Amino acid sequence: MPLTFFHPVWTRLRHSLSPERRASPAVGLMWLFLAATVLTLFEVLAPHDSSVEVPQVLAISAACAGITAILLAYGPRVPPRAISSLVGLGGALATAEIHFTGGVPNAASLFYLWGILYAFYVFSRREALLQLVVVAAEYAFVIALGPPPFSAVTHWITTIAAMLGAGLFVGSLKTRLDGRIERLTDDARTDALTGLLNRRGFDEVFASELHRALHTGRPLSVLIGDLDRFKSVNDAQGHAAGDEALRRFAKLIDQHRRAGDTIARHGGEEFAVILPDTDMAAALVAAGRLREVVEQALAQDPVPLTVSFGVASFPQHGTSPQVLLQRADDALYAAKTQGRNRVVGYQAASLPQTAVA
Ligand code: GH3
Ligand code: MG
Ligand code: MG
Repeated sequence: MPLTFFHPVWTRLRHSLSPERRASPAVGLMWLFLAATVLTLFEVLAPHDSSVEVPQVLAISAACAGITAILLAYGPRVPPRAISSLVGLGGALATAEIHFTGGVPNAASLFYLWGILYAFYVFSRREALLQLVVVAAEYAFVIALGPPPFSAVTHWITTIAAMLGAGLFVGSLKTRLDGRIERLTDDARTDALTGLLNRRGFDEVFASELHRALHTGRPLSVLIGDLDRFKSVNDAQGHAAGDEALRRFAKLIDQHRRAGDTIARHGGEEFAVILPDTDMAAALVAAGRLREVVEQALAQDPVPLTVSFGVASFPQHGTSPQVLLQRADDALYAAKTQGRNRVVGYQAASLPQTAVA
């Protein structure tokens, strides 16, 4: 066969070793079937008992090679249902392998373990247990087919129980790992001081909401709120009191946000609000309400706290997160220069912009 035939196969195999590909269940299964191809071939090429039926084992090896090729060709695009069927097929091939290499007891029964560990790692616990039940039935069948071993039932029980134990162990490791990844992901998107989304979380939500708005054609607005003369809180009462004021402010606007709106701490004493399905007029009203709530609740503090908001809306002020945020920031700047404790909507043509509320 010309070497050029192997080149694309080799390239795909190398590609399948990359970390993001290896993480795909289909690519992981491809490696298992490739290893099974090589090992079954080894069983007939290496010195073996006369009980090994060479043509049948070669056919099993060829079947494994065929499945490897399919998984290699389709890669991560293989649908989950097909993966589940292929794991079942792998179990059936392992049963045939045990039978054609001399029956039980037989090292080939370890092939079952691959499928079971894979199932407990990739599938739900229910589906993995179902795979184990099928394997247990096949294993009982192959034992019944073979010569009567000295302790068939004991052998069956020990093997299936050992696989169940290993599978449950892998499944519980996976659950713990998933939990930790979820917690780390949450932590990475959460602001430690206020518990709101941080800048990274905000960027993700803003990008996905904007994507949705671009598809649905619905409006979307973004507010940037900045506490007025916040430095004076730190100067007068210390940094810890400043932190406490930030927490109180965050709790207050979180309690008074509309359902569906997302609030994030965008930076030091700067907060951003995403208002889906909201045009400029409605966003100005929503921001005005938040401004009033803060004024009423925090204006009696030893150092009164107020907030200024800048507002920009999709689609009229921009269609990308960066442009909309810049426009909201420009409007916020206008609110500051116009005297603070107010809401200003971005207006492209004339600065200073229209003040509302
Ligand atoms: P302006 O009305 O123009 O916004 O005035 P300002 O004093 O709020 O604005 P400036 O940007 O000059 O100062 C913001 C201050 O916010 C400075 C910084 O010490 C304080 N700050 C930022 N992050 C934190 C924080 O996490 N905790 C505390 N206590 N203070 C913070
Ligand atoms: Mg400020
Ligand atoms: Mg600021």
